[in-house]
Amino acid sequence: MKVRDQAARIQPQLVELRRHFHMYPEPSLEEVNTSQRIAQELSKLGISVERLTETGLVGTLQGSKPGKTVALRADIDALSIEEETGLPFASKNKGYMHACGHDCHITCLLGAAMILAELKDEIAGTVKFFFQPAEELAQGAKAMVAAGAMDGVDAVFGMHVLGELEAGTVNIAPGPRMASADMFEIKVEGKGGHGSAPHQGVDALLVGSAMIMNLQSIVSREFNPLEPVVVHVGKLVSGDRFNIIASRATLEGANRTFDPEIRKQLPEVMERIIKNTAAAYRATASLEYNWGCPPLINDEAITEIAQGALKKLYGEESLVSMPPMTGSEDFPFFAEKAPGAFAYLGVGNAKKGISWPLHHSHFDVDESALKIGAALHAQFALDYLTAK
Ligand code: MN
Repeated sequence: MKVRDQAARIQPQLVELRRHFHMYPEPSLEEVNTSQRIAQELSKLGISVERLTETGLVGTLQGSKPGKTVALRADIDALSIEEETGLPFASKNKGYMHACGHDCHITCLLGAAMILAELKDEIAGTVKFFFQPAEELAQGAKAMVAAGAMDGVDAVFGMHVLGELEAGTVNIAPGPRMASADMFEIKVEGKGGHGSAPHQGVDALLVGSAMIMNLQSIVSREFNPLEPVVVHVGKLVSGDRFNIIASRATLEGANRTFDPEIRKQLPEVMERIIKNTAAAYRATASLEYNWGCPPLINDEAITEIAQGALKKLYGEESLVSMPPMTGSEDFPFFAEKAPGAFAYLGVGNAKKGISWPLHHSHFDVDESALKIGAALHAQFALDYLTAK
């Protein structure tokens, strides 16, 4: 029960740290003060700090015995949301808020660093602490991997707070946990004219509308119905006036799936539907596809170690089940390089009225979960490094 006791002891410090980070949220790629403070805290613990990207840090704790290398990851950026919690430690950076709980992620990982630094003599191997910028842009993890963060790393673990789960509970499950998210832009080229003479023009607005309808057949007719796919057009811009034929249309949207194979096939299927729909109406169209986040798929062996760590710390009943989510994360960029697992840390508290969804201007957490996140990171690292 060593790690659990250590975590309970540092809980007041964790609350203080979380409130500090919460008060000073910084947007993606501008996490200057945040990363500075993290570096300070790591240095205090005798953990060496390397700046891999402008605001991305890796702390390295070398155990006194040789062994494998495990990475623990936290994201550190905030959102452009005006905070409305009214909390005494609400954001002082106007227009920005830690509404996705990344302030807690930083804190839990710093807590793990505190715990593991004390256990240095018992650690066989190396623990890396990833403090990653720009998760909300899905750019930070990619950039850190490109800068060599995963070189020599044997396994990676991360977590996200969730208000839907009660504080004291955690979800860690094998297999697909979050969907991929890839963005697309479609440009339709028609021919303008007077609205009274449709035969003289090519109505790009009508073509765009038909495309939105036809693209939905991807979900119902192209793939195995047991494999969920989301094709979402969120924006259609077209037309100038009620009596003018629209000459152009632009559509923007995103595709989501848990299956890497389906993910790869989606642009080709879209292209076929887009080109042929355009042709059916005498228009032309082009597709620009931007790869975002891969699906988050938890490795079975790593998941088992993480589940074991949680149960060892807080008992069987702390591990709860939860279906996969169609939201996305950029953690898979790390997990593509080594087996990984991702946990959901319960921070809700129905009795205290804390159960806000992520990205909400009232988002808040039950801070009693901070020690749990810290302990879980630390125990996972210890158990992974001692696992056969
Ligand atoms: Mn997040």
